[in-house]
This record gives sequence, structure tokens and C-alpha cells, in this order.
Amino acid sequence: MRRLLRPHGVYALLVDLAAVVTCLVAVQLSPLPTAKDVVAFGVLAVVLGAHIVIVWRGEERRRDRAMGPIFDLTSVWTFAAVVVLPAALALGLILGMRIGTYAIRRRPWWRYLFGTAVILASAAAAEIVFAVIDAPLTGGDVGEQALMLATLAAAGGVYWLVQAAAHAGILTLTLPGERFREQWGTRTENLIEAGTLAVGGLLGVIMTHGVLYPLLVLAVLAPLNLLLADRQADAAELREHARTDARTGLLNARGLAEQGARVLQRCHGSASPAAMLIIDLDYFKSINDSWGHPAGDAVLGAVGRVLRHAVRPGDVAARDGGEEFVVVLPDTTIEDAAVVADRIRAELAALEVVATDKNGAPILITDRTASIGVAAQPDHGTTFDDLRRAADAALYEAKNSGRDRTVLVTEPA
Ligand code: GH3
Ligand code: MG
Ligand code: MG
Repeated sequence: MRRLLRPHGVYALLVDLAAVVTCLVAVQLSPLPTAKDVVAFGVLAVVLGAHIVIVWRGEERRRDRAMGPIFDLTSVWTFAAVVVLPAALALGLILGMRIGTYAIRRRPWWRYLFGTAVILASAAAAEIVFAVIDAPLTGGDVGEQALMLATLAAAGGVYWLVQAAAHAGILTLTLPGERFREQWGTRTENLIEAGTLAVGGLLGVIMTHGVLYPLLVLAVLAPLNLLLADRQADAAELREHARTDARTGLLNARGLAEQGARVLQRCHGSASPAAMLIIDLDYFKSINDSWGHPAGDAVLGAVGRVLRHAVRPGDVAARDGGEEFVVVLPDTTIEDAAVVADRIRAELAALEVVATDKNGAPILITDRTASIGVAAQPDHGTTFDDLRRAADAALYEAKNSGRDRTVLVTEPA
């Protein structure tokens, strides 16, 4: 219950209510379904179901990796339904789709409800545009055709705007200070949505001439959709490479700055604590000096493995350069972070790294220690940079007081 009372919970409830009202108005303004509408509904339902079965894996991958909101391509069918069907049937189709995909989408119910409300509201708003302008969808003279195009453009615009604005609203409340593209979606996502709505509009128009045309469109769209999901996955992989440190498999400094800031913001926005560890290996230079650079590199790789296993999903672990590592722990107090820090130090001390010396002879590097500085949000700052400075000061203290220890920031910012 407490979650619902936070600003984004209240916002989501208001959107849910607004969606119900918009749907009722749309149904009220829209004509009663005819037998032909029911057949069109059936065809769209079958095609929409087929589409989801064909592409949902790729879509989920795309969704998992997206920086901001993504628009899924089901709008081709839902927007076509809005164009060609009376509001009650179009909204029924969307509701059916959301209920049918609830199990495979693995989302918390309140988020799924919000997402459903947003789609219904955007479809209902677009239906209202059609009801108000009431232009025929079969082209007559040039004037009538122009009116039809303008109606489709207006309905598509409203459909896009309601969804984009509703999602931007909730993202603003949950991730304050996020960049614009993470709230309104990337240019690519919006172009995908524009293209999807255009195809949906076209499909709506041709469906007024033939109720089975959606099958034709599916045949064209399914391979394109699979191709798109594939391209997007490649692009996401490249982006991931640009944020990964090759030596350790951890995030690099760039990935750290982005993900660290995001995690801290999310915790700050939901009044949850968060902690940052800065880990610096003790006398690392002596490894290079004694056995050569490759031996130092082998130790760095081993430290990367320790850190990757030490953190939970949702934590951020990075090599911030050289032999310095940063871990950001969401929903973690400074006391709990100190426990994690000591566990990491124990695991580092227990490491046995096989490497080679300057002559290529095998050596075993053991008993390496590390110093760790720990700071926590909100006591020591509420931005990545502030927390970083505070943890750095604690690390400096750890080094100065003899190394091989964890030092917590004690002064409030
Ligand atoms: P301290 O206990 O004060 O941290 O001593 P330290 O020797 O670890 O400290 P310092 O930061 O002065 O030295 C870090 C060294 O790490 C310097 C550099 O030669 C080495 N180093 C940085 N990046 C790499 C790397 O990618 N591979 C290897 N092998 N060494 C690196
Ligand atoms: Mg060091
Ligand atoms: Mg250092």
C-alpha cells in the first residue's frame, strides 16, 4: 500500500482512472458494432495473436536492453483496429491482448495495469478523434482523401502523444533528472512507432475494402519485425561493449558513470538507501615491478571475477581505471555495505592467481590485500560525484592508516 501512496503511485492511479473515463467516452461516441465489424475483430485478433507468438522473444530482448521506453510493434494491429473498428471492439481487442500476454511479460501487476491503462487511453483518445471528425475511410475526390489523411494523422498523433506523455510522466517521477531520451524514448524507438502507426493506419484503410487483408500484412511484417529485433539486439550488444572493461568483464568508467548515477537516482527517488564502495588494491605496483605487467593484468582479471560474483543482480560493479574498482549497492545501508566490503576483502585475500614472471616461468600470486572506502546515500551525498568524493576520502584514510582495511565515511555531507 505504501508504494501506491508515493507520487508515482498516485500518478499511476490517476492515469488508470483517466483511462477508464476516456474509454467510456469513446464507446459512447462510437457507433454500435455490426456483424462485419465482428468478423474484422476476429481476423485482427488472430493476426495479433500470431504476431505476438512470432516476435515476443525478440521484443522482450529489445525491451530488456532499452535505455528508455520502447514501443512494441503490436500497434500495427491495435491502431488498425482503432481505425476500422468501433471503440468497444478496438478496446476489447487491446484488453484481450494485454490479458493474454500478462503471463509471458513477467511484469509486476501494478506496472502492467498502468501500461494497459496507457494503451487503452491512447486508443480511446484516437477513437474519439475519429468520432469527432467522422470522415469516410474510402477515398472520394481529392478533398475527401485529404480529409481522410488528416484524420488518420491526427488520430495517429493523439495515439502516440498519449502513450509517450503518460510514460514520460511516470519516468519523470521515478527517475527524476533523467535525460530526455530516457523519458520520451530514443529517436529510433519513436521512428519505429511512427512507422508502425503509419502501417496500422494504412491497414485500417485497406481493411475497409477487404477484411482478410491483415493476413497479407502479417506475411510482410513478420520477417521485417524479426529483422528489426535482430538489428536492435546487435546495436544493444555494441552499446554494451562500449561500456564493458575487457580485462575484467566489469563495467568500465563510462558504464559506471551511467549506471551508477541511474541506480543512485532511483534509490533517491524512492527514498531507499544506497552505498558506494571504492576498492583500491594495495601495493599493486609491486606486482608489476616484481613479475611484470602481464602478472598485474592476471591479478586484475581475478579481481574482476571476485567482484562479479560478490554482487547481486542490480548492483553495479566497475573497474574505474587502473587497479581501482567501484561498486554501487542499491537499497543498501552503510552497515550492510561494510559487510559486503569486508567479504570482498576476504575473497581478494584468499585469491591464488596463476601467472608468469618476467622470464615466463609460472608463479602463484597470493595474499593480496585491498583498501576500501565506503559512503552511503543520502548521508554523504545524493549524486554519483558527491558519493564518489566521499568514498574517495574514506579510501584515502584507509590507505593512510595502514591499508588492508575498510573505512566508512562518518561525517555527514
Ligand atoms: P597503494 O597501496 O597506495 O594503492 O599502492 P599501489 O602501488 O597500488 O598504488 P598506485 O595507485 O600508485 O599504483 C597503481 C599501479 O597500477 C600503477 C600502474 O602501473 C598499475 N596499473 C594500472 N593499470 C594497470 C593495468 O591495466 N595493468 C597492470 N598490470 N598494471 C596497471
Ligand atoms: Mg593501489
Ligand atoms: Mg590506485
